[in-house]
Amino acid sequence: MPSYTAPVDDMMFLFEKLRNNQKYNELEKYKEVTTDLVKDILQEAAKINQNLILPLAKAGDENPAVLENGVVRTPPGYKEAYKKYIEDGWTSLSCDPKYGGQGMPKTVSAFFDEMLSSASLSFKLYSELSIGAYNCINHHATDDIKNKYLPKIVEGKWSGTMCLTEPVCGTDLGLLRTKARKQTDGTYKISGQKIFITSGDHDLTENIIHLVLARADDSPAGTKGISLFLVPKFVVKDDGTIGPRNGISTGSIETKMGIKGSATCVLNFDDATGYMIGAKEKGLSAMFTMMNLERIVVGIQGLGISEIAYQNSLTYAKERKQGKSNNSSSKNGADFIIEHADIRRTLLNMKSIIEGERALCFWLSQQTEVSLNHPD
Ligand SMILES: Cc1cc2nc3c(=O)[nH]c(=O)nc-3n(C[C@H](O)[C@H](O)[C@H](O)COP(=O)(O)OP(=O)(O)OC[C@H]3O[C@@H](n4cnc5c(N)ncnc54)[C@H](O)[C@@H]3O)c2cc1C
Repeated sequence: MPSYTAPVDDMMFLFEKLRNNQKYNELEKYKEVTTDLVKDILQEAAKINQNLILPLAKAGDENPAVLENGVVRTPPGYKEAYKKYIEDGWTSLSCDPKYGGQGMPKTVSAFFDEMLSSASLSFKLYSELSIGAYNCINHHATDDIKNKYLPKIVEGKWSGTMCLTEPVCGTDLGLLRTKARKQTDGTYKISGQKIFITSGDHDLTENIIHLVLARADDSPAGTKGISLFLVPKFVVKDDGTIGPRNGISTGSIETKMGIKGSATCVLNFDDATGYMIGAKEKGLSAMFTMMNLERIVVGIQGLGISEIAYQNSLTYAKERKQGKSNNSSSKNGADFIIEHADIRRTLLNMKSIIEGERALCFWLSQQTEVSLNHPD
């Protein structure tokens, strides 16, 4: 199994040395986010990622998510780990305290995202899309919808998805065929097929809140006719409790080369009850609130994977003996491969790219906070 030590010192170095961002420092709500507080959070984050999450990477690779009798089962250990993960409040780190979140800036949650990506990307994806859905609902939904759905998503009891891709469209969403028929009570009946839906179904949460792009009956063709709908796996009653199963079924799990613990699903919507989010025919731009934040987090995934790859390459280079180095002192046998100049160069190259990536991600998360929260 790979080993992993969260680079807390490197992260704290950035937190302290790149503090000098004027607009970020003007954000009133983060004045209390001190170095000591961030260090405490990152040290706790390191423990859960190194001890609880890391073993899930191998478990997920060897026992991928499966579809059994219409229900997706996550790999062994995922359920127990997820329970502890939400009990410790990690889903709520950067969410608004109004909905039960801890209100931490993305400069802190970006570090957590990196650790989680290093430890097990498959496991991470089950909560990653929830935060994306949280952001989208928080920006575009009515207060009624926010109050009904956000506290459970923040708590991690319900998860989220984004449903854009269809058999006929990926990049070119103007082609999408999923239909939304308006009902007399103002809700919609959603019908169509979505593919490649990350965490489309699983057994970790009580409910799954799908954010679905669809075209209302009277809307035009192309991207101008797309609206956004909230479509829960289980319909939520007025008092916030879970009601009957909605018209959504899982057709299959996509076959992938990696991240096999993450269930990427084909979802069939068959007259499923949905609620419009934001303005009619402005669905694509509302979905891009989620997509744009998601893109930065996907960049952070790359950073996390690079870091754990580097750490294990370094360990291996210190254990493996092959050939004689130019400065070899051993008379017989071979040297550790780290003693070969080109191996050292390669490792240093990896390390310097990773440190630059981490600084970039940190700066991007500062800029995101400014763009979302600065009064100017
Ligand atoms: C692991 C995984 C998880 C995913 N999770 C989700 C999810 O949660 N929700 C969701 O909705 N989707 C998800 N997707 C789907 C993903 O968003 C789509 O794969 C993506 O939108 C690209 O669509 P496509 O695969 O149909 O490629 P296509 O759109 O068919 O494109 C094929 C190729 O042509 C190129 N291309 C297309 N148009 C142009 C153009 N105009 N000019 C030049 N080149 C072009 C593309 O860049 C690509 O290289 C996931 C995919 C994967 C692999």
